[in-house]
Amino acid sequence: MTVTRFAPSPTGRLHLGHAYSALFAEAVAKEHGGKFLLRIEDIDVTRCRPEFAQGIIDDLSWLGIQWSGEVMFQSGREDAYSSFLDQLHAQGLLYPCFCTRKDIMREIAAAGGAPHGHGDIPYPGICRSLPEEVRMERLANGELHALRLDSSRALEKAGKLQWKDLGIGVQPVCMEKLGDVVLARKDIANSYHLAVCVDDATQGVTLVTRGEDLLESTHVHRLLQHLLGFPVPQWHHHTLLRDEQGRRFAKREAGLSLRAIRASGKGADEVRRDLGF
Ligand code: GLU
Repeated sequence: MTVTRFAPSPTGRLHLGHAYSALFAEAVAKEHGGKFLLRIEDIDVTRCRPEFAQGIIDDLSWLGIQWSGEVMFQSGREDAYSSFLDQLHAQGLLYPCFCTRKDIMREIAAAGGAPHGHGDIPYPGICRSLPEEVRMERLANGELHALRLDSSRALEKAGKLQWKDLGIGVQPVCMEKLGDVVLARKDIANSYHLAVCVDDATQGVTLVTRGEDLLESTHVHRLLQHLLGFPVPQWHHHTLLRDEQGRRFAKREAGLSLRAIRASGKGADEVRRDLGF
């Protein structure tokens, strides 16, 4: 059975781009006689707010979207995430990273890369090559650190992997763009990449639909699924909805939120029609 999901983060109000994504996932599940799930990705306590989570549920209900079963919330599932993190640790695939953003930028600039921003350049591996005694000492001193995936070691262990997107076809896993991603942040001890894989596996998601802005992350997810022995779903990254000026919708533009559209008196049917559903 096809199982899809919509997994928004409650860091603001939903906009038309989110509505499109949710309707897309629901329509695909319906088309296959499958199931559509809703998951609130609220692990980032620094940015997520309960009123936004409730707002998401209200807006989707207003749109007429129907999900199966209870809504899953990531907050409260920290134990599940940390047990999978431990498994990666036990495989020798994580290392502590003590770097600040500044350290990373300085290193990238010194190597001749983007002097003004981190941009698309992956983490330059500063802490991957720390001598073991230095690492131990810094850990013993209680220095704050993130945990990063040693992506080359992980790829070496996994061998050749690929993933299938229903739009663009089979893609070989390539970690060059994202590199040694953070799997446990300094502040919240887990991460989007880890939680999304654990939850898609727990919820039995078979087809991950989401915007093409997350395409690069899928390489990381496919690798983690392999390392953690999770079932492998298929993906369908859809093109992003844009406004009349060709810009992506953003949560910070309150006027374009579903809530504002709703308040303007526009009907849910009209919104669905405008979005092609
Ligand atoms: N929570 C993520 C976001 O709102 C989406 C996760 C996903 O669909 O995989 O950007």
